[in-house]
Amino acid sequence: MPQRQSRNADIARRDLGVVWHPCTQMKDHERLPLIPVSRGEGPWLHDFDGHRYLDAISSWWVNLFGHANPRISAAVAAQLGRLEHVILAGFTHEPVLELSERLTRLLPPGLTRCFYADNGSSAVEVAVKMSFHYWLNSGRPKKRRFITLSNSYHGETLGALAVGDVALFKDVYRPLLMDVITVPSPDCHLREPGESWETHSRRMFAHMEEALGRHADEVAAVIIEPLVQCAGGMRMYHPAWLSMLREACDRHGVHLIADEIAVGFGRTGTMFACEQAAIRPDFMCLSKGLTGGYLPLSVVVTTEQVYGAFYDDYTKLSAFLHSHSYTGNPLACAAALATLDIFQADGVIGRNRGLAQRMARAASRFADHPHVAEVRQTGMIVAIELVRDRRTGERFDWRERRGLRLYEHALSRGVLLRPLGPVVYWMPPYVIGDEEIALLESVTAEGVDLACA
Ligand code: PMP
Repeated sequence: MPQRQSRNADIARRDLGVVWHPCTQMKDHERLPLIPVSRGEGPWLHDFDGHRYLDAISSWWVNLFGHANPRISAAVAAQLGRLEHVILAGFTHEPVLELSERLTRLLPPGLTRCFYADNGSSAVEVAVKMSFHYWLNSGRPKKRRFITLSNSYHGETLGALAVGDVALFKDVYRPLLMDVITVPSPDCHLREPGESWETHSRRMFAHMEEALGRHADEVAAVIIEPLVQCAGGMRMYHPAWLSMLREACDRHGVHLIADEIAVGFGRTGTMFACEQAAIRPDFMCLSKGLTGGYLPLSVVVTTEQVYGAFYDDYTKLSAFLHSHSYTGNPLACAAALATLDIFQADGVIGRNRGLAQRMARAASRFADHPHVAEVRQTGMIVAIELVRDRRTGERFDWRERRGLRLYEHALSRGVLLRPLGPVVYWMPPYVIGDEEIALLESVTAEGVDLACA
């Protein structure tokens, strides 16, 4: 009798017959098992064969308060009984109204207008189009270029890809993309030996100052990921650079777009990363944690000044005629409201300080590892940069796929880690406990040794 296939294997086999997975060379799955997930609970994902995996990357950085969180689930279920979706042009609903009121109270003062989309890349598209269109409506049609940082990431749609700079995702599509001005990132991993994060970040601002000085007349906006360039390998910089950018954008008459899609909602230790520099961007893009990781939703929050440049008689054709079918979906807004309730009721930002310290202690063991160039942390994001040779800084050949070895080992030990090339990182849901941090630490330690051997 042939052995009965496991549920996992059966589902994986059927899946690989019909599904094309994101960000994946599908041929890898000839060898690499696909993990079917039957349910989630807190920071854990359960498969169909009785294994569980600690979701140390919050399912692509979206999950904040655990999977199947009873409070968010209840809010979505209640909304499901009332209204699942409605067109947001000409119509509105309470969840989108309440969410907009609450976001504008939470965000840096002056960000008062919420425009909704349904994923992060679309929010970036909205901000880019809105900034260009603002200048057009203001009689400045020449301002149509964008300044972006080296190693930045803003999404995969063509506009978002154009303002990003991760070669792995961008290079193939370059012929399709608008031309942007790319300025060196203040990335503190690249600082001189002995130089502080702040000194390095301030010194690197000279590049931005130079680009603004030269191009301000033709530039609509600078777009950045505040404090952490996440997809670029969790590269971090000092808030002083953001303060300098705000001042320079004002001086040069250029918009500032803050993409807080990954870093918003507490990831950097404050509710929004921009708070650490006490700045107010002209556009703030939010998604991912916005709904606690429950449902796709994004929002661009901007100022009355921007809003005012579009507000006129219809026949002037100055309106922002951009839409997505699921814009401001009520279920997603209900999840977002429940997420904000949890932040408030549980004092999450304060509680996370202790959690971030425990993560720092767990990560400190890697600091002296012969294959670790740097352990860095901003709030709830910890990153470990692996190199072939710590003394010379020589990097591993990317073809060796060291990160993949670590990924596979971690899965075999019940932890979901998904290194970005040679960068292992922890970005867990905020409900992770001490025992789970200990597991993360030991599995990462084994994985690093194995991957670097
Ligand atoms: N901006 C940043 C900073 C991101 O990290 C991401 C997603 N990783 C995006 C934009 C794109 O969001 P989405 O995947 O929802 O399109």
